[in-house]
Amino acid sequence: MPTQRDRVALLIMIAKTTFTPTARLVEVFSAIQGEGLNVGTRQIFIRFAFCDLRCHFCDSAHTWNAPSTCRIERSPGLRDFEIHSNPVPLTQLIEWVERQNLPCLHDSISLTGGEPLLHASFLEQFLPIVRTKTGLPIYLETGGHRPEQLATIITYLDSVGMDLKLPSVSGENYWQEHAKFLQICHDSHLHVFVKIIVSQQTNPDELERSALLVAEVSQDIPVFLQPVTPLPVSEQLTQIPVLAPSPEQVLIWQALMKQFVKQVRVVPQTHKMLNQL
Ligand code: SF4
Repeated sequence: MPTQRDRVALLIMIAKTTFTPTARLVEVFSAIQGEGLNVGTRQIFIRFAFCDLRCHFCDSAHTWNAPSTCRIERSPGLRDFEIHSNPVPLTQLIEWVERQNLPCLHDSISLTGGEPLLHASFLEQFLPIVRTKTGLPIYLETGGHRPEQLATIITYLDSVGMDLKLPSVSGENYWQEHAKFLQICHDSHLHVFVKIIVSQQTNPDELERSALLVAEVSQDIPVFLQPVTPLPVSEQLTQIPVLAPSPEQVLIWQALMKQFVKQVRVVPQTHKMLNQL
């Protein structure tokens, strides 16, 4: 049921909106979440175009630039995609999400990418409406490096999966931004967890630094160590292949991090095992 806060936010947004905002999308579909705290739940995925990072292990490089079209699933889970032009008007996206939202089917809506926070001004208007119309919680999957944009939409979020990018694995370096981002999530009392992709090249010093960063905000924030899923040779983004860690490495790293934070879970990408999107 929509809350009073949702209804007021919706009215304010309608009053302020004099034109229809648009977003560039890659796809909308219904699937099982394969990562993090929401693993195994059914979600409506909205995958936004654009990413400003270039992680070595990225399996979504097709999202980096905006495609001229996006694919939209007609019936939840049937992969009967329609092709539509980008950019997509807000009202159109609401219609597509409502079409997916069959009774009792979905647990939440996942905002994914790319980097969804590059669409923060669109989300500021879209989220209060979609929350009210569907009654579904909103889950954000993010690189965790844009705290200013997060702050503009935090009141409309229910849970956040924040990537913490290790320089030795991803090639990206955002320690300060990650700390600020996690603090905002924690202060907002929403469900937040940290996801760290680990590979054979992972530097344990960076894992210790990550654990300390999380513990500084709260020792209770769950951390997910996700062994990298190696990319096919044709999709590898660097000369050095990103390989999965050994079982021994993972056990040592989990023990290392558990000295600082209470929950460190090791979970691979389960949607790939299930052949989900
Ligand atoms: S943040 Fe995500 S989409 Fe962007 S490069 Fe990294 S893995 Fe790919």
